[in-house]
Amino acid sequence: MQSVREAAREVPVVEEVDVLVVGGGPAGVAAAFAAGRLGAKTLVVEQFNCLGGVATAGGHGHICLYSSWDSSERVVGGIPYEMARRVAEAGYGSYNTRTVDFEVEGMKLVLEEMAGECGCELLYHTMFSEAVVEGARVVGAIVESKSGRQAIRARYVIDCTGDGDVAAKAGCACDVGDEESGHCQPMTLMFQIGGVDWQRVSEFRGTDYELAHVWKKAQQAGDMRPFQSVIMGWWWTPTRPDQVGVNFTHVNFADSLDARDLTRATIEARRQAYETIDVYRKYIPGMEECYMISTPNTIGIRESRRIRGEYTLTRDDLVGMREFEDTIGYGSFFIDIHNVSGPGMDSKTLRPEPGFKYQIPYRILVPRDVEGLLVAGRCASATHEALGSLRVMPQCGVMGEAAGTAAALCLEAGVEPRAVDVGRLQAELKSRGVIIDAADIEAANAPEAAGADR
Ligand SMILES: Cc1cc2nc3c(=O)[nH]c(=O)nc-3n(C[C@H](O)[C@H](O)[C@H](O)COP(=O)(O)OP(=O)(O)OC[C@H]3O[C@@H](n4cnc5c(N)ncnc54)[C@H](O)[C@@H]3O)c2cc1C
Repeated sequence: MQSVREAAREVPVVEEVDVLVVGGGPAGVAAAFAAGRLGAKTLVVEQFNCLGGVATAGGHGHICLYSSWDSSERVVGGIPYEMARRVAEAGYGSYNTRTVDFEVEGMKLVLEEMAGECGCELLYHTMFSEAVVEGARVVGAIVESKSGRQAIRARYVIDCTGDGDVAAKAGCACDVGDEESGHCQPMTLMFQIGGVDWQRVSEFRGTDYELAHVWKKAQQAGDMRPFQSVIMGWWWTPTRPDQVGVNFTHVNFADSLDARDLTRATIEARRQAYETIDVYRKYIPGMEECYMISTPNTIGIRESRRIRGEYTLTRDDLVGMREFEDTIGYGSFFIDIHNVSGPGMDSKTLRPEPGFKYQIPYRILVPRDVEGLLVAGRCASATHEALGSLRVMPQCGVMGEAAGTAAALCLEAGVEPRAVDVGRLQAELKSRGVIIDAADIEAANAPEAAGADR
């Protein structure tokens, strides 16, 4: 490959902060809000023009699961729970102890309000480019934007990019995809449609739940290419009764770390979205008049880099509903793995028994080989299968809140993230309504706790 040599240059340091959060998705906002509330000078760098990641820029107005699997026992508290309540209370959605469905524009506004209350500074339209590393310690980041190439110095950096961009640039060992095939889960471009008669659609879905027959019929008639074979998600909120968010497109073999692949996948998924709308109009009662409202800023990425951390969460940990000394919260979603090489779901998918939940250890946020850095969200340290469950938004928020809290405690104690006082971290999380152990679950689900903040 040909190359050009870039001239060495001085990069201005435009900010010096205590905590730099890179990426403002569900993990990033929780990290930033937690650090900000503990008094750390906190900056969020985000490539798009809003907070929320997949929940907003990715067009996905549905967050789950706040409860243990197939149960109403709530196992998530803290900032992710606060986001759910606040977006519903503001009139942009509805929350029901398991999930929250919302208008993505409303979520953007609520998150910006929360950022202001927590004293977090935001820098949108800015892409993380390089880690600034001194010795084996991350001390900041180089970013690129319309303002040019700039440096931000930070006492602690939290990588919430989903893709582990900071960790990889800082030299952390990472894994990508299924350990056997190397493939990642497919990408999905969400889309929002209007003109839906939800009552009739629900009746149709109620009498003929096997919507998959619709896709089969449409595919046999040549009305749809065979990119999908299962029902997937329709997300509806009573605040916009004629609109539905659709999780249906599927693009395999695309690498989210490659701009050409992202471009190809987006173009293909948009084509699939329009094809889907034509099928809805022709085959689904209540959708005869539906139309495209929007596709989001970005195609949804289910999987890319995962760091190698001090601990790696595994399928066995999940299936064994393992508890950890350094628990920071709970996960409870099924092992949701979309077929890595075709339509439908993967054979590694696992639907557990009702009540399924497992603890998330702090060590999966701590990279093995670099100091000064925490990693939260989709790129934390887990196997491909464990990530199938851990990747959902409440758990990304749980990890983010723990990372932000840990960074603030490290700042106070002058220690590295791997040396944080875990007992102190857990006490701080508990004091903020985070559910980290059985006692917290009991308290959060006691009849007198209904409607309380925990
Ligand atoms: C199609 C789809 C459907 C899903 N369905 C559900 C569901 O129903 N319920 C649920 O709870 N979860 C669902 N998930 C999972 C969940 O949305 C993601 O795993 C979760 O959002 C990951 O959170 P995160 O904060 O780690 O990353 P993201 O949400 O991806 O956020 C990362 C943020 O970092 C920013 N960023 C990335 N790189 C850079 C950079 N270099 N510089 C600056 N900014 C950067 C991004 O713009 C983004 O805002 C779904 C995911 C997909 C893709």
